[in-house]
Amino acid sequence: MTIETCKLFVNGEWVSSSASETSPVYNPSEGIQIAATPMCGSDEISNAIEAAHAAFPDWADTPPVERARLMFRFKELLEQNFEELSQIVTREHGKTLEESRGSVRRGIEVVEFACGAPSLLLGDSLENIARNIDCESVRQPLGVSVAIAPFNFPIMVPLWTLPVALVCGNTFVLKPSEKVPLSVIRMSELLEEAGVPKGVYNLVHGGKEAVDTMLTHEHVKTVSFVGSTPVARYIYETATRNGKRVQSAGGAKNYMVVLPNADLDSTVDAVMGSAYGCAGERCMAGSVLVCAQEAGDRFLEPLAEAARSLKVGATDRDPGAQMGPVVSQQHLEHLHRSIESGLSDGADLIVDGRDVAVAETPEGFFLGPTVFDKVEPQMSIVRDELFGPVLSVMHASDLDGAIARLNGSGFGNAAVLFTSNGGAARKFKHEVNAGMVGINVGVPAPMAFFPFSGWNNSFFGDLHVQGSEGVSFFTRQKVTISRWADTKRFF
Ligand code: NAD
Repeated sequence: MTIETCKLFVNGEWVSSSASETSPVYNPSEGIQIAATPMCGSDEISNAIEAAHAAFPDWADTPPVERARLMFRFKELLEQNFEELSQIVTREHGKTLEESRGSVRRGIEVVEFACGAPSLLLGDSLENIARNIDCESVRQPLGVSVAIAPFNFPIMVPLWTLPVALVCGNTFVLKPSEKVPLSVIRMSELLEEAGVPKGVYNLVHGGKEAVDTMLTHEHVKTVSFVGSTPVARYIYETATRNGKRVQSAGGAKNYMVVLPNADLDSTVDAVMGSAYGCAGERCMAGSVLVCAQEAGDRFLEPLAEAARSLKVGATDRDPGAQMGPVVSQQHLEHLHRSIESGLSDGADLIVDGRDVAVAETPEGFFLGPTVFDKVEPQMSIVRDELFGPVLSVMHASDLDGAIARLNGSGFGNAAVLFTSNGGAARKFKHEVNAGMVGINVGVPAPMAFFPFSGWNNSFFGDLHVQGSEGVSFFTRQKVTISRWADTKRFF
């Protein structure tokens, strides 16, 4: 099989990179390389930014209703090619086809949101703020927006920002993760087919050098980042120092709390989906379960049994696979080291996913569902984001104790409670130090019209992606105050 090097889309043309270094793209179910990502240098990234800068004045002047029509056409093409896009996500990421479909759907919902551009961009006005003086505000675009994406949602995360930035009148440069560029390449072909004008949307590839160019280039006005916390913090600090508007979403360690009165079957299902969906490679994955009071007696064994019976397999060829591989051999080794560290810290490994075997594709990067019990707050398996199918179980004497553990995590994406008691639910919702709360919902990921509202070390910036915060991020308001007092002379 020949390994193709991915192309860039710059100023309306698909071009080959001149980079000498590439990074491998794998099919993680098979453990084989399927493509190569060029690690573009500063010159190539600057070219794309210059193209976006040149396209900006005309695009900014394009009526919002026309910008929205581009999104209607894009949405239609995404629907027509939905199955193909989902298959590419599965092929390069490894999640199940059902999970890929769900993630592509979530991305399309942001395109649908952006189709409402004329309404989203409406300003305010007030007549007679003083006698004969009126005031109005309008929203205007900023210029070139850049986005840097992680590997775990190859289409959905780029679509968190791209449609909104464009309908607001900005031009765009996207850098997907070097691990999963193929889905975004197909998505970009569809945006080209929808008729995006030259230079308005550009696709580049690379790693740190590419990103650093984006963070510091004089023509870049906004930076949207999604990835791990150390990189998110670096992006926020570097880009703000260079005068950019930044939204930078980081990693997470999401706690789920279960009370003894929760419904058994639906809670076990929801915990399984949260901990092991997408092989735990989700920033909303529940990776810690706190059993309050005697909840452990009721829930732990059924949960361990469900984890043991989950079918792990090659998602690109086995429709029965319920969980796929992790993204790379390197990440698999990192997870094995984390499990070793949990064992040496004294946690009780009640389900060991290391002995999983997938006969058809033994080279795939597989780790089975893993459960540690009796995990203590100081252990690294509970302090660090592992980003894999490893669930840590802790115990607390009551709801207050469980909330205290959760609030001590330092992160702030999701916090989840399973209960049948409304008072407990209300207290939890009010007191948790996290931006996205689930009550009897394992993955409380907000839809396109609400902000994806990470807190603490899970987000750096002020305005989140999605919803009205996304529109505010991609526009700036201009307020005009007018006095027209002298009317007599014109009649
Ligand atoms: P990552 O931080 O390794 O990489 C993300 C992006 O940053 C990639 O495009 C990569 O090329 C680039 N990058 C990596 N190192 C860099 C550096 N030193 N300087 C500049 N750029 C760099 O993240 P990942 O492994 O691709 O994705 C998984 C992480 O993303 C997890 O931590 C997960 O929680 C997080 N995530 C967060 C959210 C959220 O909404 N908070 C959503 C999805 C994923």
